[in-house]
Amino acid sequence: MPDSTTDPYAHQDIREAVRALCARFPAEYHRKVDEARAYPDEFVEALTSAGWMAALIPEDYGGSGLGLTEASVIMEEINRAGGNSGACHGQMYNMTTLVRHGSEEQRQKYLPRIASGALRLQSMAVTEPTTGTDTTRLKTTAVRKGDRYVINGQKVWISRVQHSDLMILLARTTPLAEVKRKSEGLSIFLVDIKQAIASGMTVRPILNMVNHETNELFFDNLEIPAENLIGEEGMGFRYIMTGLNAERTLIAAECIGDGYWFTEKICGYVRERRVFDRPIGQNQGVQFPIAEAFIELEAANLMRFEACRRYDAGQDCGAQANMAKYLAAKASWEAANACLQFHGGFGFASEYDVERKFRETRLYQVAPISTNLILSYVAEHVLDLPRSF
Ligand SMILES: Cc1cc2nc3c(=O)[nH]c(=O)nc-3n(C[C@H](O)[C@H](O)[C@H](O)COP(=O)(O)OP(=O)(O)OC[C@H]3O[C@@H](n4cnc5c(N)ncnc54)[C@H](O)[C@@H]3O)c2cc1C
Repeated sequence: MPDSTTDPYAHQDIREAVRALCARFPAEYHRKVDEARAYPDEFVEALTSAGWMAALIPEDYGGSGLGLTEASVIMEEINRAGGNSGACHGQMYNMTTLVRHGSEEQRQKYLPRIASGALRLQSMAVTEPTTGTDTTRLKTTAVRKGDRYVINGQKVWISRVQHSDLMILLARTTPLAEVKRKSEGLSIFLVDIKQAIASGMTVRPILNMVNHETNELFFDNLEIPAENLIGEEGMGFRYIMTGLNAERTLIAAECIGDGYWFTEKICGYVRERRVFDRPIGQNQGVQFPIAEAFIELEAANLMRFEACRRYDAGQDCGAQANMAKYLAAKASWEAANACLQFHGGFGFASEYDVERKFRETRLYQVAPISTNLILSYVAEHVLDLPRSF
């Protein structure tokens, strides 16, 4: 199968290097990790030592100084090779928040050690159990007491906490009743995870459909140094949105990687599998859903590169990041369905890897933002329709 038709954006050098690294971790490796519900330590370690996890850190701080475009190609290639970037993608998009909004002191203190792999910044804690997608109503509070903030509240679905040293936390610093706009009065903090576990943060793992390390967090008078506030107090929601646009775009790229994996896998299978004395891929009833998914993937890919281009140019990319995530998650899901369907019963056998990738890509219809909320964003912010909530 040809590479994406979007050749001008191909970044072939990065693709080849990441593919060579991924080839050292074949399907059996990812299958075993999934079956054991383990973390792909060796794989993430290899990506870190090769410098890929520091792609977005500026060169002055020991990183490669690449853009979101290149970072997205790295994530795409991991998923296209049969892996799951979900184990480590947090570091990529969390980095953008620290790089863009952290103080010079914070950047000096953390970025070189993150670039070298001595520290991991894999977690971001936004979602709460009682408020869900209605983020600005979150109930976790951070109250300033002298040179510290005291944190109380609860988070849910916070990923990679057990495989990270630092976490970005969104909490309310000014009560909702005292702000003009509900997006005001929220702040972001860097939390040292080990210290927090020793002094007021409890981590409760959530067993889930995907092998994705994710947790409930409880904060009981957790004290963190005031110097760990990122940017200005009260501006956290705006800062976190920068990271969320990067996150949506990177996840769009991962879905595209998944989509190509499903398409390649199923094309190979239907060419070979013979039923009624001919390859099943000769039937148009089999060809058309695969072709349809491929067309949608290619369109999603263009939107993903447009989102990346705007982000890297410092332009607003909210619409493009959301639309890329919507299109890519939908296309990879269509490709996953076709891949499972035309493998027949074999699609359900773990050794074909289809059921694993099927579960993994399904997540992206819901997280990090559900398709409904993207439709709502486009209706309100792009089409200027009245706010519905
Ligand atoms: C495996 C996994 C990992 C995650 N990792 C993280 C993480 O690291 N950090 C983090 O902060 N969060 C994380 N999340 C949380 C994720 O971002 C949320 O689950 C997601 O944003 C949806 O929020 P919710 O689950 O509260 O759903 P709800 O807000 O309860 O919504 C439920 C459903 O109702 C629909 N809905 C809600 N309101 C409306 C409306 N007004 N109009 C139409 N439809 C609506 C939604 O589309 C959704 O499908 C993770 C989730 C999962 C499953």
